[in-house]
Amino acid sequence: MRPMNAPHVGGDPGTQLRAWQAELAHASAEMIVARALTEFGDNSGDEIAISFSGAEDVVLIEYAQRAGVPYRVFTLDTGRLHPETYRFIETVEQHYGIRIEVTFPDAGAVTQLVRGKGLFSFYTDGHEECCAVRKVEPLRGVLSGLRAWITGRRRDQNPQTRGTIDLVELDPRFPGKGGAPLVKWNPLAKLSGTDVWDEIRASEIPFNPLHARGFVSIGCEPCTRAVLPGQHEREGRWWWEHEENKECGLHLDVAPSR
Ligand code: SF4
Repeated sequence: MRPMNAPHVGGDPGTQLRAWQAELAHASAEMIVARALTEFGDNSGDEIAISFSGAEDVVLIEYAQRAGVPYRVFTLDTGRLHPETYRFIETVEQHYGIRIEVTFPDAGAVTQLVRGKGLFSFYTDGHEECCAVRKVEPLRGVLSGLRAWITGRRRDQNPQTRGTIDLVELDPRFPGKGGAPLVKWNPLAKLSGTDVWDEIRASEIPFNPLHARGFVSIGCEPCTRAVLPGQHEREGRWWWEHEENKECGLHLDVAPSR
């Protein structure tokens, strides 16, 4: 008999996903976060974690806090974040009384990249290689210890690459613990950026001070810039590249060869 709150994915993952999708189709984002944590939390909260980087992710933490169950939060320190972002991590930790699990890239891989190509190779040969070293591989390591993760992705962040994401799906790229299918929860998928900021203001959720300086989507310092009123938020990311390339590899919908 399956113990209470044990992960359900183990039979037919597709059947379980469809059941969750039907059940949560009209649920609030807060309810979806609570459901994900109780479904995979297994009392200790060890097998599911919230991915933290942007404004949306603090809303997820707020909802996790309200759920009143143990939860984990991780973030990827690429080594190239804004000083404001490092301080913001500390602010969020203090606000919620939590410790965010900061994950770092492999020192040898970073050394090889920087000594071979310099510190700004992404401006000339694209962001994929640097993102692979500083983001994708560290994320792969974190996810290999989990059965599920929670992201702050929204459909309106990038209609081309995120326009059809589901509230809950199987991660198409990364396996989970022991190579098992990894469940990816996207509780904010159907919300707009305005919805998120309405919640931030209403609940007095802390936010990165860069947002007050025109930054909307915040990533690494060399690859992020402020946008003008009316510009889409993703226009501030990797602005020297084509629109269809504006994903860092953490959320691609195809499994690469590696
Ligand atoms: S966003 Fe820029 S600096 Fe950060 S990992 Fe990707 S290419 Fe490197």
